[in-house]
Amino acid sequence: MKNVVVFGAGVAGLSVAYELAKNNINVDIIEKDSQVGGLAKSFTKNGFTFDLGPHFFLSKDEYISNTIHDLLEDNNLIDNTIKSRIYINGKYFKWPLKIFNAIFTLSPLVTMRIFLEYLAIKTRKNKIDDSFESYVINRFGKSLYDIFFKDYNKKLLGLPPSSISVDWAQQRIGLTGVTEVIKKALFDSQDKEKANIGKFCFPEYGGIGSISLKFREAIEAKGSKVHLNSYPIKIEEKKVTFMNKDQRVTKKYDAIVSTIPLTGTIKLFDDIPQDVKESSSSLKFRSNIFVYLVLNKERIGDDHWIYFPHPEEEIFFNRLTEFKNFSEKVCPVGKTIVCAEITCNFDDKIWNSDEEILIAKVKSKLISLDFIKENDILDSFIKKERHSYVVYDMDYKKNKNKVLNFLDKKGIYSIGRHALFYYNDMTYSIDMGFKLAKYLINQDKGYEILLQKMNSSRRTVCI
Ligand SMILES: Cc1cc2nc3c(=O)[nH]c(=O)nc-3n(C[C@H](O)[C@H](O)[C@H](O)COP(=O)(O)OP(=O)(O)OC[C@H]3O[C@@H](n4cnc5c(N)ncnc54)[C@H](O)[C@@H]3O)c2cc1C
Repeated sequence: MKNVVVFGAGVAGLSVAYELAKNNINVDIIEKDSQVGGLAKSFTKNGFTFDLGPHFFLSKDEYISNTIHDLLEDNNLIDNTIKSRIYINGKYFKWPLKIFNAIFTLSPLVTMRIFLEYLAIKTRKNKIDDSFESYVINRFGKSLYDIFFKDYNKKLLGLPPSSISVDWAQQRIGLTGVTEVIKKALFDSQDKEKANIGKFCFPEYGGIGSISLKFREAIEAKGSKVHLNSYPIKIEEKKVTFMNKDQRVTKKYDAIVSTIPLTGTIKLFDDIPQDVKESSSSLKFRSNIFVYLVLNKERIGDDHWIYFPHPEEEIFFNRLTEFKNFSEKVCPVGKTIVCAEITCNFDDKIWNSDEEILIAKVKSKLISLDFIKENDILDSFIKKERHSYVVYDMDYKKNKNKVLNFLDKKGIYSIGRHALFYYNDMTYSIDMGFKLAKYLINQDKGYEILLQKMNSSRRTVCI
């Protein structure tokens, strides 16, 4: 293997390229954006550093963890413990759910109902998990589902939870039910240090995107190249044509890796069968609008982020992040920055809304929730990401498998969040990248084992 092309310079694309370049394989990375990092990029403005919503790094894999630490060199990875809450009916609850906090914050009547439902779940047989909704109700009961799970997931994916695949619940919810929540509350506190529960890391300087910048430096130091503002337009066998800024380039490669949305990769072929086309157009992604406010105040609070599950008419955004709580160095002393995330569909009414109106809505909500005052706001602006979440509807697996089988037959290696249509975190994308590189270099089995695991086991992502 002498040369490889990689579409996309998010962490999946950068990590496969890094590992290949380290082993003296020449890589061209084709990235449409003007910077690397994908969803895990950062950007700066007037001395402030911004991420796309909250982005923490955590890996239990020694190789990944050591590589990231080595890459960052003197830019410390600060250890942190997640502090997040969810705002419901005018009250803040710790999140992930802590049973005693929930019980003491809810009314006695609701607590009693939760308890009775818990007893009923314990004795009920033949529970069928056929959707996100039934999975959660079967484990937590209807009241906990209604209060904590229903609205947020509906808002995030834009679907009623009865039409969301059970896979979404298995990947998104870390706990298997009330019994586990109680066990954790009773027994976990002594073991917390040992188990690293809720721990994560974050680069002291430069936001989460500093990891991707270091990947790029290491890749280019080995003679490989990241082509920004570039995108692929055609694949014929192992020949790839891409636009490199405004130049059309055609080159032959030994292997083609795609980390861009799979729906875009199939369009690079001339001979897409009708059923593959149909499956591809049925796969849906959710988009994000990030509303940033720069504030002339020390902090709005000490949470990393807060969830807002309310219907859009009530609270427009679904999560609020304060980056200073990840690292103090992201903004000057005495100032802070917050980011409100709005999920929507690409090109819908919200996506096309006037930006000033969106900013005004976020401002007035944060003022009414007592986080800020009108004269705290120094600056405000918006960023948009078309591909943020993969939508696990009831047919997503059948559709994605059809598209992936087509790409597989064409010899394309698909890895990463949108190329595999798999709800994952950064570490998982990095893991796929490293493992695919080792597979391409010496047929290392880790890559195939990882793909099999993804289809069979649950891996929790809490973001
Ligand atoms: C709001 C939010 C918060 C998150 N928080 C966390 C967190 O706290 N911790 C965590 O570990 N993970 C978090 N994640 C998940 C994490 O961001 C992703 O799993 C990870 O960054 C995905 O990396 P990737 O390389 O697979 O995909 P992407 O980051 O999507 O990279 C794909 C790249 O391909 C490029 N591209 C797309 N189309 C083309 C094209 N046609 N031609 C060329 N290039 C193209 C894109 O510009 C992008 O750079 C979060 C995600 C979101 C949306």
